[in-house]
Amino acid sequence: MTFIPYSCQNIDEDDIAAVTAVLRSEYLTQGPAIPAFETAFAERHAAGHAVAVSNATAGLHIACLALGVGPDSIVWTSPNSFLASANCARYCGATVDFVDIDPVTRNLSLAALRAKLERAETAGTLPKVLIPVDFAGLPCDLREMRALADRYGFAILEDASHATGASYLGRPVGSAWADACVFSFHAVKIVTTAEGGIVTTRDPALARKLRLLRSHGMTRDAADLQGPVEGPWVYEQVELGFNYRITDLQAALGLSQLRRMDAMHDRRVALAGRYDQLLAGLPLRLPARASDRDSSWHLYAVEVDETRTPVTRAAVFAALRAANIGVNVHYIPIHTQPYYQRLGFRRGDFPAAEAYYARALSLPLFPALTEAQQQVVADTLRTALA
Ligand SMILES: *Cc1c(COP(=O)(O)O)cnc(C)c1O
Repeated sequence: MTFIPYSCQNIDEDDIAAVTAVLRSEYLTQGPAIPAFETAFAERHAAGHAVAVSNATAGLHIACLALGVGPDSIVWTSPNSFLASANCARYCGATVDFVDIDPVTRNLSLAALRAKLERAETAGTLPKVLIPVDFAGLPCDLREMRALADRYGFAILEDASHATGASYLGRPVGSAWADACVFSFHAVKIVTTAEGGIVTTRDPALARKLRLLRSHGMTRDAADLQGPVEGPWVYEQVELGFNYRITDLQAALGLSQLRRMDAMHDRRVALAGRYDQLLAGLPLRLPARASDRDSSWHLYAVEVDETRTPVTRAAVFAALRAANIGVNVHYIPIHTQPYYQRLGFRRGDFPAAEAYYARALSLPLFPALTEAQQQVVADTLRTALA
């Protein structure tokens, strides 16, 4: 039986033609495909500005810097995320702390956030930036977080790496609420450019700063030049930036993928709905749904419910892998990593994230997954849990 991965890129002939056209063109990088992709992405997400970068980690890094994160800053994020959600603040020398998750949504818990903010206000340790993560593609409680951000004076940098195509209160993720929002185009994500990412924001000054930081802090824009303009060759470095640029090859792929985004999204929604039906009645906790938001269904993550079965998550994982099903686990809580343990975090610090991790399994979900393959996954799970 062929291997069924947990995620798989979706590349069609149009994508290949789009990349090939760039290969035959004048620019492989820093050409017209990048602004075309940025404009299309910003339009689709009802965002004022979109700045494409080499990967979402780079986007998170320069978004932290642009939001003023530095060695004196405190940044909070969710422990149930990929390492980059926390590492980006460490790149700026900031102190990282975590807010435990809501066991139902698996996103950063609003109640835990409120309580932690109250304590931090008293202690004088309020965060500069909060990095909520739309886990599996389910948007966070962004409206309430916005109200808290305005009250306590922190910025929201949304890690929407999973949430391309998700919506909240009828609007696309990336359009509002957060000060900046980062999406990933890694090959396993919803839309891919192989490696790549984008930062959206409503703030033109923040977008300008992101553009500077993505390319060495360098500008040729007459409005930004500080010294005498000795000639048309003049460029100035006005910030310490990086080479975090995306290429035209990648942007062309992204633009082509964007044209199929809604169709791919609909397929994920249908497959997720079908999983709900196929798995109903098994000793599993299925992903939460909420009437005010729609997931992008980057992941279909279930929990082995230890109150209803003696079978362990490890045993279920092994049974699925033995059946050639590429089940995965998202995520090992960030604070339990050796690097973060050296910074002083301990197991037990964020019990909801740890409990979720102990039971979690991400099942295969991608647009080309067939109903027959999905049936195999469900049947294998049923047998493993029996
Ligand atoms: C994939 C991912 C990232 C990093 O994205 P890259 O584009 O690989 O740098 C960051 N945060 C989350 C939640 C992710 O899933």
